[in-house]
Amino acid sequence: MNIETKCIQSGYSPANGESRVIPIIQSTTYKYESTQHMGDLFDLKADGYFYTRLANPTCGFVEAKIADLEGGVGAMLTAAGQSASLIAIMNICKAGDHVVSSAAIYGGTFNLFNVTLKKFGIDFTFVDASAPYEELKKAIKPNTKAVFGESVSNPSLDVLDFEKFARLAHENDIPFIVDNTFPTPVLCRPIEYGADIVVHSTSKYMDGHAVALGGVIVDSGNFNWANGKFPEFTEPDESYHGVVYTKNFGKAAFIVKARAQLMRDLGASPAPQNAFLLNLGLETLHLRMERHCQNALAVAKFLENHPKVAWVNFPMLDSSKYKPLADKYFPKGTCGVISFGVKGGRDAAVKVMDSLKLAAIVCHVADARTSVLHPASSTHRQLTDKQLEECGVTPDLIRLSVGIENVDDIIADFEQALAQA
Ligand SMILES: *Cc1c(COP(=O)(O)O)cnc(C)c1O
Repeated sequence: MNIETKCIQSGYSPANGESRVIPIIQSTTYKYESTQHMGDLFDLKADGYFYTRLANPTCGFVEAKIADLEGGVGAMLTAAGQSASLIAIMNICKAGDHVVSSAAIYGGTFNLFNVTLKKFGIDFTFVDASAPYEELKKAIKPNTKAVFGESVSNPSLDVLDFEKFARLAHENDIPFIVDNTFPTPVLCRPIEYGADIVVHSTSKYMDGHAVALGGVIVDSGNFNWANGKFPEFTEPDESYHGVVYTKNFGKAAFIVKARAQLMRDLGASPAPQNAFLLNLGLETLHLRMERHCQNALAVAKFLENHPKVAWVNFPMLDSSKYKPLADKYFPKGTCGVISFGVKGGRDAAVKVMDSLKLAAIVCHVADARTSVLHPASSTHRQLTDKQLEECGVTPDLIRLSVGIENVDDIIADFEQALAQA
């Protein structure tokens, strides 16, 4: 099936007389006829549900759909994108291990890695992803257990060179993890370019309507966890009666271990209701992404030609240094997010923001409605102008998430707002 068909059909096929749409199983628990059956479930010997913290049928249908969209062997929904990144790293690393991450990642992920996981004893080196391969290689240490990057970074919109990062990981026998939130599997499937694990914040385009927080981890099934570097996968798990993940679950070892150990212990479980809402979003994902990309390109070109605009950052523009990588990996577009600067700096940017009528000021990206954020006065408010320059978030920067309204209306709104600056 093609990706558009998978968006609609994958994950759930009702039997005769069953509900056409995935049912919301609003139940924390499940009834069984024998203690033996329940025991087998707890030993991971039988397939089935016993407690919604670990698994739930509604979530299971959506997990199967997303695994199919990304081309993986399995997936696990999480309560938020943050918990997907957390569990993906913790499933591989313990105190004393190290991860190489692109520096161009979402601020929440950066804090998770640089503050919280460091407190747990997992060390991170942040690299300039555009550096040559020989330079990146120097960041790898004997205790490095994973390489991490964002396919299109939030908010800087850097495009990841998948093959360079996959090589960095695989030449060192460690997995390559990609956060694919912005492009979604409709525009790019990182597993096809060497990613071993894919994570998402489904709160963005996948949901697409800003109604439900969520995350997901997808396992490609391609990584060899039995290469000697990952004993937790090949030695008996005493907390599960001696289960050996690579032996008992083969290609699905990673995703089964993530659920059995970490969802069990951390409890970052999604609500079935949210999984249902996410599925509604996924059914139109292919249509929305196409329109987000078309609209964003038109808006980016309009801004680039506007006399009051100082600069525009959008990977699909010919002027972007990422255009060659974007053409290679994202032939259908990167996503609908743009950043741009207004001549006149901070005050001019604020004036434009406050003059917008259709585009709303919200702390969110990637939903159906056009929205804007001025990082210098919100998410990055504590930083001085000098610190802002250093992290690439200049005081004039407006982050614009182009929605799927009629593009003429979006452009007209920016036309009138820029006229006031
Ligand atoms: C929003 C976001 C996250 C965090 O996801 P939440 O659902 O907000 O927890 C992670 N990565 C990227 C790229 C994001 O945009």
